[in-house]
Amino acid sequence: MLDYRVMISLLCRPTCVFCDSITYRKLDLCMVCEGELPFLKNYCQRCASPLPQGQDICGACLGNSLPAIKTTVLFHYEPPIDKLIMNLKFHNNLIGAKILGELLGDHLYNQYQAEAKPEVIIPMPLHFARLRERGYNQSLEISQPIAKRLKIPIDIFKIKRLKNTVPQSRLNAKERIKNVKHAFHVVGDFNYRHVAIVDDVITTGNTVFELSKLLYAVGATKIEIWCLAKSLFKNSNSQVENPQLAGFLNRLKK
Ligand SMILES: [Zn+2]
Ligand SMILES: [Zn+2]
Repeated sequence: MLDYRVMISLLCRPTCVFCDSITYRKLDLCMVCEGELPFLKNYCQRCASPLPQGQDICGACLGNSLPAIKTTVLFHYEPPIDKLIMNLKFHNNLIGAKILGELLGDHLYNQYQAEAKPEVIIPMPLHFARLRERGYNQSLEISQPIAKRLKIPIDIFKIKRLKNTVPQSRLNAKERIKNVKHAFHVVGDFNYRHVAIVDDVITTGNTVFELSKLLYAVGATKIEIWCLAKSLFKNSNSQVENPQLAGFLNRLKK
């Protein structure tokens, strides 16, 4: 008869969320599938648009007056990452937050070996109505493995989302800016200086830029954005809005 400890360890072996094989590590993702994920290699430090090697800021971000932020993103918003994130947001399946949050946490842990860490993580807040409907905030779920890995506290009470905004994915460029304008509110005094905002997907960046502007206005001095994936913003003709970026992506495809 099998020892009960052996039985428990057999039953609890993590299996890969993509290929069902035993992963031989704590994560529900095997090394082979991890190696095939669409990692975003070189990208704009602000809006996370893919860039040619050696460039840090895209032309669009150089020419505008957005607040100074440093953005870290791990993946392109492409299969199979998009499905994990969609399941996380709309199908109560939190496994994506755990796996992708741990991968992002590992990446950030290496990045902050030589740099000062933010004092606090602020998960992108949801409006109360959306939170009640979904039952959880996906950005908080993503933040938890990161906070544990980097040993940084999470604050979910300091920032409130006042406007129950329309999902940005349904709007054009101008509507997106208007949609998130004055969407957030600081509760009481704001005593943090170096802050990390965690969000699931960055597209145009309007939402994180709006929150960053508010945090700078109340005393933050350094803001970082930590995000799972970069989704490219497409207009109604399904063309990437930034022509420079569209040209670069076309060259990549060839
Ligand atoms: Zn696998
Ligand atoms: Zn940019």
